[in-house]
Amino acid sequence: MRKKIPIETAKRVRSLPPYLFATIDSMKEKAVSKGIDLIDLSIGDPDMPTPSHIVEKMRKAVKNPVHHQYPSYAGMLSFRQAVTDWYRKRFNVKLNPKTEVVSLIGSKEGIGHMPLAFIDPGDYALVPSPGYPVYPVATLLAGGKSHEMPLLEKNNYLPDLKAIPKSVLKKSKLMFVNYPNNPTAACADRGFYKELIGFAAKNNIIICHDAAYSEIYYDNEKPLSFLQIPGAKGVGVEFHSLSKTYNMTGWRIGFAVGNKDAIAGLGKIKTNLDSGIFQAIQEAGIEALNTGDTVLGKNRNMFQERRDVLYNGLKKLGLEVNKPKATFYLWVKCPKGVSSMDFTTHLLNKAEILSTPGNGFGAHGEGHVRFALTVPVKRIREAVERIGRIL
Ligand SMILES: *Cc1c(COP(=O)(O)O)cnc(C)c1O
Repeated sequence: MRKKIPIETAKRVRSLPPYLFATIDSMKEKAVSKGIDLIDLSIGDPDMPTPSHIVEKMRKAVKNPVHHQYPSYAGMLSFRQAVTDWYRKRFNVKLNPKTEVVSLIGSKEGIGHMPLAFIDPGDYALVPSPGYPVYPVATLLAGGKSHEMPLLEKNNYLPDLKAIPKSVLKKSKLMFVNYPNNPTAACADRGFYKELIGFAAKNNIIICHDAAYSEIYYDNEKPLSFLQIPGAKGVGVEFHSLSKTYNMTGWRIGFAVGNKDAIAGLGKIKTNLDSGIFQAIQEAGIEALNTGDTVLGKNRNMFQERRDVLYNGLKKLGLEVNKPKATFYLWVKCPKGVSSMDFTTHLLNKAEILSTPGNGFGAHGEGHVRFALTVPVKRIREAVERIGRIL
């Protein structure tokens, strides 16, 4: 007898919120199948290839049989050493490569596993809204609850720590913070990090600072590492990614650094669930971390030109937008009374431009759309022209 059994996902999977970007994906598919000349400003993925010296390193490393076996869980010591050297050069922060650095299969992997290591059922994670959806989703999958911290314009898109209710605070174990910020493009200053570290110490909350965009900055104003501020290592970790900095989103390599007990907890989950990064990719990662400033500067200049064209263009059209100091996003206010989904649909139907509706990043993203600078400047000029025609 052949019986078809009911395949039912776990309650925790069924409890996941609807994936708002799926709607956007299907809208995009429909538009593309109609053959329209779509300008896609919804993609958080650099459009330029990985620099050739990194690709070349990979080509050589892949031939080495040593790398064909299981990698070490925490990452090759040489990769962790390269991270340590990069941190000292870039931020003047000292790290112990053996205890304060762990390699990640992209920073999303580490962020996703963090709640599994530290959240018990009933515990809270404090998450930014708008914010990277992985923070609340990973918390939910670990059996925890999220408390949204609104990122509001009047607070320069920084969370208001004093507004977090005491009852939530008592049960909070983790806080996710992300600067330079996706999607608002805001940066945090030293004063904020100081307050954050004091707050974490007082309330026993582990800070998870997501610094995926620390190297995509403009006008030579370098964003801070959370670990540059005294006391940071006592309360948290920082997540980094090679994805955005070196146009390596497809390679899947990142790392977490900071508090050694937090790194060890994350490492424990990883040793039980994954087996680390292909070592040839780690070799390429070492090469990437040693990339000279000329290559990175060129990349930044390219994004800066795009930023200037889009920012100046949208301003001229009367749209409200802040000039980003970092990231490759513009966080644009919808015209008065228009929801983010309606504005997105309007831009797509009337101007053949795809943006990301702010509400996809959480309730407090409503009223904004996100434009990504991941298309050539010529297309950005064209996009500004098209928006001008429909506003
Ligand atoms: C892109 C991104 C990441 C993760 O990138 P990985 O490719 O997984 O390293 C993490 N946080 C934010 C906010 C991002 O936008």
